[in-house]
Amino acid sequence: ARSPIIRSEVVYESQKQQAAIASLVNEFTILPAKLKEIKDCFKSEMVKGLGKQGETLAMVQTHILGRPNGSETGTYLTLDIGGTYLRVVLIELSQGRKVSTRQKKYAIDPLLKIGEPKLLFDFMASCIDSFLLANEAVIPKESQLDLGFTFSFPVLHTSVNSGTLIDWTKGYNCHGMVGKDPAEFLQQALLSRNLTVNVAALMNDTVGTLLSHAFTYPRTVVGLGLGTGSNAAYIERVDRIGKRDTTVLGNNAEVIAQEMVINVEFGAFDNERTVLPRTMFDNKVDRKSLNPSKQLFEKMIAGMYLGEITRSVLLDLIDNRLLFRGQSSHKLDTPWEFLTEYMSVIEEDSTPDLEEVRRVLEDSLGLGRFESLETQFAAMAETAGLTRGGELPKEPATTLSDRQIVKLVVELVGKRSARLTAAALGGILEHTMGYTWARNEAERQGGVDIGVDGSLHGYYPGYESDLIRGLEELFALEPEMSFLFANDCDSGGFMGKIRLGRCLDGSST
Ligand code: BGC
Repeated sequence: ARSPIIRSEVVYESQKQQAAIASLVNEFTILPAKLKEIKDCFKSEMVKGLGKQGETLAMVQTHILGRPNGSETGTYLTLDIGGTYLRVVLIELSQGRKVSTRQKKYAIDPLLKIGEPKLLFDFMASCIDSFLLANEAVIPKESQLDLGFTFSFPVLHTSVNSGTLIDWTKGYNCHGMVGKDPAEFLQQALLSRNLTVNVAALMNDTVGTLLSHAFTYPRTVVGLGLGTGSNAAYIERVDRIGKRDTTVLGNNAEVIAQEMVINVEFGAFDNERTVLPRTMFDNKVDRKSLNPSKQLFEKMIAGMYLGEITRSVLLDLIDNRLLFRGQSSHKLDTPWEFLTEYMSVIEEDSTPDLEEVRRVLEDSLGLGRFESLETQFAAMAETAGLTRGGELPKEPATTLSDRQIVKLVVELVGKRSARLTAAALGGILEHTMGYTWARNEAERQGGVDIGVDGSLHGYYPGYESDLIRGLEELFALEPEMSFLFANDCDSGGFMGKIRLGRCLDGSST
């Protein structure tokens, strides 16, 4: 099992450097007791959000009652937006199983994300238009189609297919949309293109992930989204939703005993800054973002921000002349240019000289290209024919120590993200235990499934094992969770009882 503490080897070049790194390790490491404190706080925030509108955790009522039962059959069109790409998908379901899928991804012009909403929604409609045209053979022209609209932003639902935008996140910020209904905007854009497509459902991506995973794994109680943004949806019992609208839902015993999917919107957790161990680097990233002081948890854990946090730490080390001989590069100086993808490559590099790290730093980011004055003089002397011949002193572009430090910083940022995600997921699992899973001995034995979508889970090395390790640590501290460890005492973990499953098409469900 991976330890909560990073132990990567670094051969330091100075004591000052060593002290600076020790202090970073200290700031970014979340020890078990702190993790538990965060999880407990998350759990109580969930309860607050279920009780009242407008709390930090929005705990959005999706109006989706129950879980899929495997009888779902039909052809569904979906549009999914919320990250770098927009996807249109046509899914055919038979008895809850996917029998065929056609899909197309469209890149979203960054300007559309921050411009007039009408332009963004027109773009969505134009993608559907071209998708339908390209698939005319399977979807006859003029057929009346129902569309599931996966809109991966916080929306307060007024019904299954309507709601109001709470806030933009993840670098989107189209003017004047907050408080408006995204489904209505899309419907208007479709109408103006004379498309006979009806927006029948409006859904968060994590809700899609949960439902889609539940088609195959009926014990699914949580859908996690760990990509550009981070969030979860879970199954709640209606009687525990204090803020439920009884005029819409009714209040009889039958309704109250039902289940509803809740979109937690956990990216906003701890916006009031009480529990998370935020560093000055997190604050820097927040201040420069399009939504300062919002989504503070998301900004510590989501794919969009991890590279930017790392960049901020590296620049600080450079400014203190503790890395790359105090020299940065144009790329590293540019916000958002240290991609989270680089972190995956760096984490994976186990070569003794950290050759992959070198490639990222030198080739992709242009670091370490600055030769020392001695080397420059020697080169000039040689050009002028003044040297005695022989090898020029060769200056390594980045030193091994530089590369080791970069790898360690990346590991600190990545591991902290996985562990904080464990605190949130742990909070949700504990909150629901005994209500929607582990209600009886058979369910306790059967464990629980979690559908996960997003690139951090899929491509970030060690992310899932750090996440599971964090959960194990948390639950080992809770006596009522000990049943999870029953079958796996030897390894000290609960392998097989809490199952994270990759759910690729979640957001288009
Ligand atoms: C949004 C959520 C979404 C998550 C993952 C967050 O920024 O607020 O609604 O589920 O990203 O896409």
